[in-house]
Amino acid sequence: MQVNMDIPYNKPYLSGNELTYMKDALERGHISGNGYYTKLCHGFFTERYGFFKCLLTSSCTDALEMAAILLEIEPGDEVIMPAYTFVSTANAFALRGAEIVFCDSRADHPGMDESLIEGLVTKRTKAIVPVHYAGVACDMEAIMRIAEKHGLYVVEDAAQAVDSFFCDQPLGSIGHLGCFSFHETKNIISGEGGMLVINDEKLQARAEVIWEKGTNRSAFFRGEIDKYGWVDIGSSFLPSDITAAFLYAQLEQLDDIQARRREHWQKYFDSLISISGEFAFALPYIPTYATNNAHIFYIVTNSLGQRDKVIQLLSKHGIRAVFHYQSLNHSGYYLQNHPQQSMPNSERYTDCLLRLPLYYELPDDVPMLIAEYISQELGD
Ligand SMILES: *Cc1c(COP(=O)(O)O)cnc(C)c1O
Repeated sequence: MQVNMDIPYNKPYLSGNELTYMKDALERGHISGNGYYTKLCHGFFTERYGFFKCLLTSSCTDALEMAAILLEIEPGDEVIMPAYTFVSTANAFALRGAEIVFCDSRADHPGMDESLIEGLVTKRTKAIVPVHYAGVACDMEAIMRIAEKHGLYVVEDAAQAVDSFFCDQPLGSIGHLGCFSFHETKNIISGEGGMLVINDEKLQARAEVIWEKGTNRSAFFRGEIDKYGWVDIGSSFLPSDITAAFLYAQLEQLDDIQARRREHWQKYFDSLISISGEFAFALPYIPTYATNNAHIFYIVTNSLGQRDKVIQLLSKHGIRAVFHYQSLNHSGYYLQNHPQQSMPNSERYTDCLLRLPLYYELPDDVPMLIAEYISQELGD
């Protein structure tokens, strides 16, 4: 039995040209935002995925905050989103004073249960924020239909969903706005980083202003106006061009990165499928309308106790498996002014979802070893 493995749950991958491009950015003499590499990244995304307008940000959290400002979310407005998500999805809208309305997850997938959304819509609902958990699409056809019927905005939290699709539509391109993350735990990284995608032409001009501290500086640099000034609220949402240079090196290797992650994902699936019945845990489900960008490989154990056992037995072998979101309807902040609400599926994922290590340089035999360790030791 190997005892000296050290397998973290994530390891940032350098694809090759990161340092070269960062050095080049320095030599170009412009390292603040909206420089040479920022424009290359914007161009990459608009060409490859047909996004209407892209703005790199310092994080997906920033992109979500920009979205909330852009949609003029105000106190009293209601925003519907899954309870099983990262805090930033909710925080960005709470910062504008919105009332966060949580929706339970699907039984077969941690994404929000689309059939529950319409029941949550009121006269005050302003937006729906689907989260494409693990890069697997929510049913965007159903969500866009509800949004259109009730005149709501849709902001896709596509933090995990780079290079993933709903049918043949790239995620992030379907809602009015899409928000991506390039945090070091995602597929494509720049340390901290993110992007706001604007798909509604009417939101474009104001998005640029909010991005540039509430000024019309972008229009000034395009030569459209002869001086720039304070025209709206905004903040400094731009990443430096050094960050963009790092990101561009990753984007050049996107196909290779995705292919490698998919190989690991498939090995996990193939190794674990034969024992999932015996130990009664579930494997990820990918609806037919969704692609798999191999952002996360997870299992859903049959109890909190079983998850603890798996974490412990893998840890003995030097393998770090982690759980994450605590259903936000039970968070201390939300409970300060909301009653307890039950969200059975979200709570089940809180207790039972376990992420297995998945990163480019994961040794090839880890999925098989994990299956063996579980098979041999979980019953003990
Ligand atoms: C990672 C993540 C975020 C936050 O991204 P940052 O770039 O770290 O701000 C938001 N939502 C979801 C669903 C995420 O997975």
